[in-house]
Amino acid sequence: MTRIEVDSLTKEYGSLTAVDDISFEVADEEFVTIVGPSGCGKTTTLRCVAGLETPTSGRILFDGQDMTDVPVNERNLAMMFQSIALYPHMTLRENIAYPLKVKGVSKSERDEEVEEAARVMQIGESLDKHPGSLSGGQQQRVALARTVVGDSVAFLMDEPLSDLDAKLKVEIRKEIQRIHQRLGEPAVYVTHDQEEAMTMSDRIIVMNDGRIEQIGDTEAVYRYPNNVFVAEFIGNPSMNFLDCSLVELGTESATVEIEGTHVEFPVERSTESFRGEAAILGVRPQHVTVEGGDGRTLTGTLRLIEPLDDRALATIDGPQGELSAMIPRDSDVNEGDRVEISLNRFELHLFDPDSSDLVA
Ligand code: ATP
Repeated sequence: MTRIEVDSLTKEYGSLTAVDDISFEVADEEFVTIVGPSGCGKTTTLRCVAGLETPTSGRILFDGQDMTDVPVNERNLAMMFQSIALYPHMTLRENIAYPLKVKGVSKSERDEEVEEAARVMQIGESLDKHPGSLSGGQQQRVALARTVVGDSVAFLMDEPLSDLDAKLKVEIRKEIQRIHQRLGEPAVYVTHDQEEAMTMSDRIIVMNDGRIEQIGDTEAVYRYPNNVFVAEFIGNPSMNFLDCSLVELGTESATVEIEGTHVEFPVERSTESFRGEAAILGVRPQHVTVEGGDGRTLTGTLRLIEPLDDRALATIDGPQGELSAMIPRDSDVNEGDRVEISLNRFELHLFDPDSSDLVA
């Protein structure tokens, strides 16, 4: 049983604050992903948890025990990073056994552990080969096997899939989840890829500029983003943001006006203290529909249709600005058409244009 606690962690490099007073916990057996754009402080946070960096202030605790000054090799962690770095002159068996050898584990125990890890990762047949003869996916499996041999208290990963092609990513992603369940330890995973974060995690931590913007389970972060940053970063394609004026904001519904059209929608939690006249209406492309026509709703001109799998992404220009909509591949609208735009009123988000925080 391990619980990881990051308590008021700050890490400065000279005048640059890479991580700015963040706190979070990872429960035993929980899979938590830190996600955010390049440079937001994800790797630095993970390296502090691992003991590869010393915090400027704040503490790292495992199960309530202060680990802040405990060196990395005494933290007992399973770690996996982007670069695979297998030793080319060693066989797979030797590669996987290496961390155990460094720890001084006996040969017979090492052999047993390696066989077991290789069995789990389905590379048992290849143990006497050298890494050079393996595909990228097989090398990643070896790296995973090497990560998980021996006892560990937590599983830390930094962008382990970023060098793999799309198909392998999906495969290794599943292996990582399987290994995590098997280890039964807390896992902290770092990625800039929100889709990876959404598919793998119990909870995600969205970071921006050294700070935490939101922590929550994937559904909550997707459906109730705290602010414009989270709303834009999470979800693919990105959410649309429309300038609007606020007509009415109640406890159960809100009405906004966009270019002369009134849009009334139910709200689940509203900040009634919001008194602004201008607001930002957020709507995901999945919740925008378009039809041919030029009625009294929002209208625009369909500029572009980009096919994606069984759907297509439509870009519509209108007085309200540019808007994206996911439409069926076989939709009967075409580029250049005048279209009516409808917004799913159960999936609208209202933001404060000054603070960019969620209002309703
Ligand atoms: P990426 O996805 O690009 O790896 P990240 O979110 O993991 O980004 P970090 O690598 O944690 O971000 O970096 C956060 C900030 O700290 C960046 O501005 C980076 O340039 C800076 N930084 C990181 N490591 C060091 C270091 N050793 N010395 C100086 N600055 C550093």
